[in-house]
Amino acid sequence: MKYALVLVNIKGLGVKTFSYIVPDEMQGIAKIGQAVLVPFGRQGLINAFVVGFSDYLPEGIRAKKINRILDETPLFSIKYLKLLEWVANYYCTDFVTVLNAAIPMKLIEKNSKTEQSVVLINDNFEGLTKRQKEVLELLKTEGKSPLIEFEEKAKTTRATMKKLAEAGYVKIELEYVYRNPLTIFKDVEVEPLFELSPDQQSVYEGIKDKLKSPNPILLHGVTASGKTEVYFKLIKDVLDSGKNVLFMAPEIALASQLTKRLARKFGIKDVAIWHSSISDGEKYDVWQRLYNNEIRILAGARSAVFAPLQNIGLIIIDEEHEGAYKQTNPAPRYDARVVARRLAQFHQAPLLLGSATPDVSTYYFAQNNNNIFQMLKRFNNAPLAKPEVINMQEYGKAAYRSIISKPLQTEIKEAVENGKQVILLMNRRGFSTYTQCKACGTVVECPDCSIPMVWHADGKKLKCHYCSKEMSFPDFCPQCGSDALSNSGSGTQKIEILVKELFPEYRVERIDSDILTKKNAHIELLGKFQKGEIDILVGTQMIAKGLDNPNVTLVGVISADTGFSVPDFRASERGFQLLTQVAGRAGRGEYKGKVLFQTYNPDYYAFQTAKSQNYNKFFETEIKARQEFDYPPFSQIIRLILSSQNNFRAEKSAMEIAMRLTTMTEKFGFTEYLETLGPTPCIISKINGYYRFQILIKNKLSQKGHDFVSKFMNKITLPKDIKLAIDVDPLDIL
Ligand code: ADP
Ligand code: ZN
Ligand code: ZN
Repeated sequence: MKYALVLVNIKGLGVKTFSYIVPDEMQGIAKIGQAVLVPFGRQGLINAFVVGFSDYLPEGIRAKKINRILDETPLFSIKYLKLLEWVANYYCTDFVTVLNAAIPMKLIEKNSKTEQSVVLINDNFEGLTKRQKEVLELLKTEGKSPLIEFEEKAKTTRATMKKLAEAGYVKIELEYVYRNPLTIFKDVEVEPLFELSPDQQSVYEGIKDKLKSPNPILLHGVTASGKTEVYFKLIKDVLDSGKNVLFMAPEIALASQLTKRLARKFGIKDVAIWHSSISDGEKYDVWQRLYNNEIRILAGARSAVFAPLQNIGLIIIDEEHEGAYKQTNPAPRYDARVVARRLAQFHQAPLLLGSATPDVSTYYFAQNNNNIFQMLKRFNNAPLAKPEVINMQEYGKAAYRSIISKPLQTEIKEAVENGKQVILLMNRRGFSTYTQCKACGTVVECPDCSIPMVWHADGKKLKCHYCSKEMSFPDFCPQCGSDALSNSGSGTQKIEILVKELFPEYRVERIDSDILTKKNAHIELLGKFQKGEIDILVGTQMIAKGLDNPNVTLVGVISADTGFSVPDFRASERGFQLLTQVAGRAGRGEYKGKVLFQTYNPDYYAFQTAKSQNYNKFFETEIKARQEFDYPPFSQIIRLILSSQNNFRAEKSAMEIAMRLTTMTEKFGFTEYLETLGPTPCIISKINGYYRFQILIKNKLSQKGHDFVSKFMNKITLPKDIKLAIDVDPLDIL
């Protein structure tokens, strides 16, 4: 092969591919996945990755030579690139966008052979300055370290380090050292696997019988039914057979918890973690260790599906219903579950999905494939708390006039007085829901987005939850000039203040995404709650997940209707999942739990089934509605959003595309697979100053239909002022 296609990361340009000549002496040595050094314009030699070869150059290109191969061991394989190619095609986006999301580009810049390490070789520090001694003492405790990192830690310079090297105290080597294992492994002690209960054992055996199935296997088990212990047993078998395991959790905090639990069962050495927030250095280390097959279990969040784990024998996706598995912005808008399925096929490995509230589509397909296993009781028969309903329609009665009804207040008091803890869910952040003029009814909207501004009591500002714009509370109505503006509805901040007023002697804290501005604030608060240092935790859906605190006996949902009223085809499913999950936080230990839902719609089916925590019944009703309107799983939705700062131009280009799509569909005979709806203004018709129009394509689950759309999308060119976002299998259509 005469030419190599290499990937470079250039300041200002981003990640791009270019062709280079493979010189004679590198013929047969250059391989896909290797890091190389290439000349690039005025920047001189830069790092790059080989991603392909060809015998020809694209027309009009004059190629330069690859300067040298930095590391003969590749960092990824052809198979890996094939997976990325498949992802690009499935999500109707280009290969480089996917590469960019999948491979941490810092890997190029921080290449192993160019990184130095430093080690202490003489610990007789006599005659040195105080400062020099400090640096060397630190190196003594740290041991052999990557040079750059050590310099940062010791707050010293390269010049100082060089001097110490010349004086014979330290040695700077061109050898690579892995960073210390992550701090999350502190205090981890290995413990044996539990003996499975008879229920767990039979599910485990059932799943084992299905491991050859090419289709995903679903483990539907209620909260605390013991799913994780079943996973562990399966993992053990896979490890014993010599293969490796990828285990995904929907978010970083859960992935960290899981990693610790895995390390306790299988040993620190074999386990690694991967998510978007580990440092580039750690990513580099893990990447290399994965590629060298030194890691047996990789735990991680969404992006872990792109980590180059070798020899996969099982993929587990826990809490598979979570929206966090899908990247919504920017492209590639991939769903880790979909990619994992493909990855599993590549490795001929089984994909096991687990949840207490499975995604309706997952459940539907698993049922059709006879691949469902259920554990509908908690481990040890601990009772699931039965939610009770507080009908807020009885508002006329004094007891229900407060946002926190009298019955709920009584239960809170009883729980805390008994030394127990309480979770209060309010799935909306901010103080109120909207600000309205009482004279003319106008609601104050964000100037750039078509949604109401939300009052935040902590910063004393109105905030937009879409573009983060802030403004002070207006003195007069922007419409009629009246000064009768007031806040309505409630959010977490109001609930927090109210609870503190009602129970001044209790310890109350709030968790929602507003506190995430402080790093780790959320993890710290959860830790305090776990230790019993908080009596009442108020929060959004962030507190509905994963919390396993046996001392929580009461869960109160302030407004159980919030999720159901969203105009989206998944609203019932999301609402059902949230209520069921939060109810699962109560009574996990030896104490009986109580769950109270405050609602104005006590008869709604999704609410009723959440109340009885009856997934199967919810599914039966929901799947009929999906079928009637041809929504997933009965079709695949491909959503196109065209946006522009000019409303008219956005609409015009959306109409043109829709028309072209309809014409082409008819011309090429694809009408039996594809249906094009719209364009219509999006429900949120403006975000960040951009007017939004959407086209929905419903594909009748055919590969042909999908390929047709993918090809069509590749050919679209748009004027500069129009943006197009393609979202395959969107989470919502708002
Ligand atoms: P899930 O993953 O379904 O939420 P877990 O696997 O976390 O449930 O189990 C809930 C609790 O029960 C955990 O504290 C777990 O350690 C315990 N548990 C589950 N299975 C067993 C078992 N076979 N023996 C002992 N304890 C178990
Ligand atoms: Zn007004
Ligand atoms: Zn806005």
